[in-house]
Amino acid sequence: MRQSLFFSKTRREAPRDEVAKNAQLLIRAGYVHKEMAGVYDFLPLGLRTLKKIENIIREEMNAIGGQEVLLSSLQDPAPWQASGRWDDTVMDVWFKTRLHHGEAFHQGSELGLANTHEEPMVRMMKHHIASHKDLPQYVYQFQTKFRNEVRAKSGVMRTREFVMKDLYSFSRDEREFRAFYEQVAAAYLKVFARCGLGAWTFRTFASGGSFSKFSDEFQTVCEAGEDVIYVDEEKRIAVNEEVYRDEILREIGLEKARLQKKKAVEVGNIFPLGTKYSTALGLTYKNEEGENVPVYMGSYGIGPARVMGTIAERYADEKGLVWPLSVAPFALHLVRLGEEEGVRECADALYTRLQKGGMEVLYDDRPHLHAGEKLSDSDLLGIPCRLVVGNRGIADGVVEWVERQTGSVRQLPIEEAASLLLDPDAGVMPKI
Ligand code: ATP
Ligand code: MG
Repeated sequence: MRQSLFFSKTRREAPRDEVAKNAQLLIRAGYVHKEMAGVYDFLPLGLRTLKKIENIIREEMNAIGGQEVLLSSLQDPAPWQASGRWDDTVMDVWFKTRLHHGEAFHQGSELGLANTHEEPMVRMMKHHIASHKDLPQYVYQFQTKFRNEVRAKSGVMRTREFVMKDLYSFSRDEREFRAFYEQVAAAYLKVFARCGLGAWTFRTFASGGSFSKFSDEFQTVCEAGEDVIYVDEEKRIAVNEEVYRDEILREIGLEKARLQKKKAVEVGNIFPLGTKYSTALGLTYKNEEGENVPVYMGSYGIGPARVMGTIAERYADEKGLVWPLSVAPFALHLVRLGEEEGVRECADALYTRLQKGGMEVLYDDRPHLHAGEKLSDSDLLGIPCRLVVGNRGIADGVVEWVERQTGSVRQLPIEEAASLLLDPDAGVMPKI
C-alpha cells in the first residue's frame, strides 16, 4: 500500500483527555480515532492489526472444533428475564433501548444491546439440540458488545463498545465439559503466544461466581493493567488477587510457591457455567436412558482490541509502537528518502517485486517530507522491519534494512535485497 494514498495521518499529539499509553500511541500513529471516552473507531492500520489478532483466534478456535456464527446485537429481554439477568442490579453494564411507540413486541417495548450472549445463544441452541447425539457443540462468534463500563481510562483495553470473541460449549456432562475446557485453555495460551504475549501471559485462578468455585483468567503482566495477580514466573502459575487467600493457596498446592505481586491485564477468560443457563432456559437433551437432562455449559471470551492494546503497551518504546510480525499491519515499511529519479526507480521496483512475492509492504512514497519526518513516522508506526532507499545507499549499491524492535541495521545489496527479504530462510525477515 502506498502511504501517499492514506487518508489517516500521524499526529504529534493525542487528545488531551487520553491518559492511556496504548490509545495515545494508536491515535498518534493513525491506527484508531477516538469518538468519545471509551469509544474508538479503527482506521485502516488499526483494522489490519485487529483482524490479524482475530484471525489468530479464529484459527485456534476452529482447530478445537469451534463453529463460527454471528448473533445479533439487539437482544430480546425474554431469555434474560428467564435467567434473572435483565435486572440492572444483577447486570450493571446494560445499555438498553426502546422500540418506537406502537410497535408490537411481546415483551413490551424494551430491547437490550448485547453485553454478552449466554441467554440468546442458549435459546437459539434449543432449536438444534434435542438428543445426546446432538452433543457436544462448540459455537463462537466475533461480535460487538456494549458495556456501560464505569471506568474507561485504559484506552482500547476497556471500551464501552468492543468486539469480543465469545465461545460457548454445550456438553453432555461435566467430564465431557472439562476435557473441552482444558482444550480451550491450551488454545488460549497458543493465541497469546502467537500474538507475542506468551512470555508474560499466565493462566490464572480466579473467582468462579455463583456456580463454580473457580474460573480461569488469562492475565498478561503489564504495568497498565487494572488487575493484580500473584505470579510465580518460573513455575508459570498465577492467582488473581480476588481469590488470593491462604486456604486457596493450600488447596492448589501453591503455599510454597514464591508468588510476586504484579499488575496485569485480563486478556481472556474461560468460565464453567454448569447447568445454570440451560436449566433457566430449558435447554435439555434426551440421554441414552431416555431421560431429559440439562446441557452442561462453559463460556470463553477474548477481547481482540484488549489484546491489541496490551501488545501496544508491552512492546512500545520511547519512539512509538512496535508490533510483533504476527499482528503487524504490514511486515515491511519501505521508506523512500529523496525524490531523485534513481531513488524513485529503485524504491518503486522493490515495492513491485516485494508485493508480487507476497509480502505485505507499506511504501512511504510521500514526496516533500524531510527524511527525519519520514523516519520518525516509521518509528511511530512500529512496522517490524524497515527498508530505507536513499541517495547515499544507492551510490554504494545498497539499501538499509532496520529491525524496529532492536534497531539492528544491515546493508543489503540492491540487486539481492528483494530475494533476501522474500526468502524466509535467508535470515533477514523474522519468522512468524
Ligand atoms: P473485566 O473484569 O476486565 O471487566 P470481564 O470479566 O468483564 O473483564 P468478560 O465478560 O469475561 O470480561 O469478557 C471476556 C473478554 O472480553 C475479557 O477477557 C476481555 O479480553 C474482553 N473485554 C471485557 N470487557 C472489555 C471492555 N470493556 N473492552 C474491551 N475488551 C473487553
Ligand atoms: Mg467487565
